[in-house]
Amino acid sequence: GTIDTTPVYIGAGQFAAWKHTQLILDVVEGRGGMFSLDNGTGRRFLVRSRAYDEGEIAMLHRADRLRAMQAAHDRDADGFWLAEARRLDWSVFPTRADESSFDKRDFGIRWFADGELNVSVNCLDRHLEARGDQPAIVFEGDEPGEGRSLTYRALHREVCRFANVLKANGIAKGDRVALYMPMVPEAAIAMLACARIGAVHSVVFGGFSPESLADRIIDCGATFVVTADEGTRGGKRIPLKANVDCALERASGVRSVIVMRRTGGPVSMREGRDIWWEEACAAAPDDCAPEAMHAEDPLFILYTSGSTGKPKGVLHTTGGYLLWSTLTYDLLFGPEHGRDVSDDLFWCTADIGWITGHSYVVYGPLSNGARTVMFDGVPNYPDPGRLWETSARLGVTIFYTAPTAIRALMREGDRWVTPHDLSSIRLLGTVGEPINPEAWDWYHERIGRGECPIVDTWWQTETGGALIAPVPGATATKPGSATFPLPGVSPELVDGEGQALAGAAEGNLVLTRSWPGQMRTVFGDHERFFQTYFSTFPGTYFTGDGARRDADGYFWITGRVDDVINVSGHRMGTAEVESALDMHKLVSEAAVVGMPHDVKGQGIYAFVMLNAGEEGSEALRKELRSLVRKEIGPIATPDVIQFVPGLPKTRSGKIMRRILRKLAEGQADQIGDISTLADPMVVQQLREGMSEPS
Ligand code: ATP
Ligand code: MG
Repeated sequence: GTIDTTPVYIGAGQFAAWKHTQLILDVVEGRGGMFSLDNGTGRRFLVRSRAYDEGEIAMLHRADRLRAMQAAHDRDADGFWLAEARRLDWSVFPTRADESSFDKRDFGIRWFADGELNVSVNCLDRHLEARGDQPAIVFEGDEPGEGRSLTYRALHREVCRFANVLKANGIAKGDRVALYMPMVPEAAIAMLACARIGAVHSVVFGGFSPESLADRIIDCGATFVVTADEGTRGGKRIPLKANVDCALERASGVRSVIVMRRTGGPVSMREGRDIWWEEACAAAPDDCAPEAMHAEDPLFILYTSGSTGKPKGVLHTTGGYLLWSTLTYDLLFGPEHGRDVSDDLFWCTADIGWITGHSYVVYGPLSNGARTVMFDGVPNYPDPGRLWETSARLGVTIFYTAPTAIRALMREGDRWVTPHDLSSIRLLGTVGEPINPEAWDWYHERIGRGECPIVDTWWQTETGGALIAPVPGATATKPGSATFPLPGVSPELVDGEGQALAGAAEGNLVLTRSWPGQMRTVFGDHERFFQTYFSTFPGTYFTGDGARRDADGYFWITGRVDDVINVSGHRMGTAEVESALDMHKLVSEAAVVGMPHDVKGQGIYAFVMLNAGEEGSEALRKELRSLVRKEIGPIATPDVIQFVPGLPKTRSGKIMRRILRKLAEGQADQIGDISTLADPMVVQQLREGMSEPS
């Protein structure tokens, strides 16, 4: 083609987005030079570069690898996945990759079906030779500095012991084991011990009530419960064992309960049913042959957060899930070029009661041989500087948390951040909700010194691991966008009729083909699995989320489709309106929902929480309205703004807009299941505040 002969200087970040990275690497590594290349549009440029530094070269290597992966997938998808499967140790290597179908006739999700492997072997045994004495889990308790670390060798030994305890109590392959635990290494030990013998774990968040615990135990048919005497959170004690006792009055299928001593607090032990962890393990041998599992044998059941309704028992299997958590951990959080995974200390703040805790506290990091932090505390104890104090003290290099935590800490002000030296952090991540640009900027500037890339990972309990996310260094980010799909992931936007939308567009986010980490069923209800995810837009997996793709191909999650507001025929995602409100310096967090409106069909009802110590006023309402008008347009102007002391959130920190919608619609009596709500009192406060707003 034609060559543009004016030489342009170009940075590595821009190169990384172009096609011929390998060529560029050959030319510029260490030296710099002048050469011509095209930028993917067919137009050729004459480019001059200076010598690149190490970081820039690392970035080019990553970009190149990422592009090579996508190209390999496009050439031969099964060949690509089988090559990726080499990341794991298999006792029988699979010969087949994807045998999934989203079609009603031959519906099913299956990956690597003739392969055999064991998850605990992949997370432990295979690291013993090279990393036996390296820390695997770095534990940080509720009190700052209360901690210890476990090497891979120690973790392996404890897992084998506990696996033997499970076996001695009659637990066998396929049996369900419920975990109701604090965020202590024993929780990971119990998960891995289940995996070692082929038992199926179901972790229930330790903050759930006895009723919620009982529901989950009954739904998954667990016969064994692992718990602790008490948990500690923010200096308070949580009576885990007493809650289990209460749950088991209803969940009568449970034969044994094993109790670890966390606080030494008082518990009652039932003769013949309850066993102390320490005593049982002390008597157990510390070797345990791993069970050879088929790739499609279940690994765990985990209930979704319940933002939209009754939680679903999401079932993940062995081979595909492990490959997905392993691969995505490496792509998103893996070592920089030429470094080892153990050079990093990775801290994902999620509780193991959520999928993020499964994939990025336990399975992904351990399978990669990383050092992973387990934190048993809360972000605001003993003060709102806790996460930063702990990061600095432990020397955390990668920090991964949820927007809700970022917004909450931002609200407390910078004075909690500045005293701490966060220079060890090189990479930041977020997950769970769209991150509003204001929070993104704060995270980037205050925590990331304006230097660390932010990996905004979009995914779901159902997807097993991240699907849309930037690969640090290789993908240029835009605040608030999860950017592009990872290699082999095929998102599409469809309209209400299921027609694919091309180019820049907004619509329903679906996936047109399976990926290894996809859930296999809703436990005990395969029909519900099909109906929930595959019947809305036949032939695709429907995520339930809406998204926008901009002119550069970036994906922006706009919120749950159920939450979309339709004002005078204009469809609006909640995320954009909320982000606009969040920009006001007095606003801590906002949630918007639709409300019935005579003229417009739907109007916008905004629940706004202000920064600590601030009070709402009529003047502020006016300011907020004009802010939204300026940021998005008059169509998005809230009809009602209610200042609230708190927002209803799930235990995993997500806003439950369906509750707010009922309130805004004046149907406070039809709120439905609120068992996954973090603080049911909030609903009462909102109801009481409803008469005042204008
Ligand atoms: P339920 O399915 O029971 O209603 P839930 O959807 O909240 O609960 P999760 O699987 O924990 O349960 O959450 C997945 C959802 O979280 C996604 O569907 C999406 O709405 C939201 N989400 C996760 N990560 C992101 C992100 N990076 N950006 C925007 N939204 C995100
Ligand atoms: Mg969901």
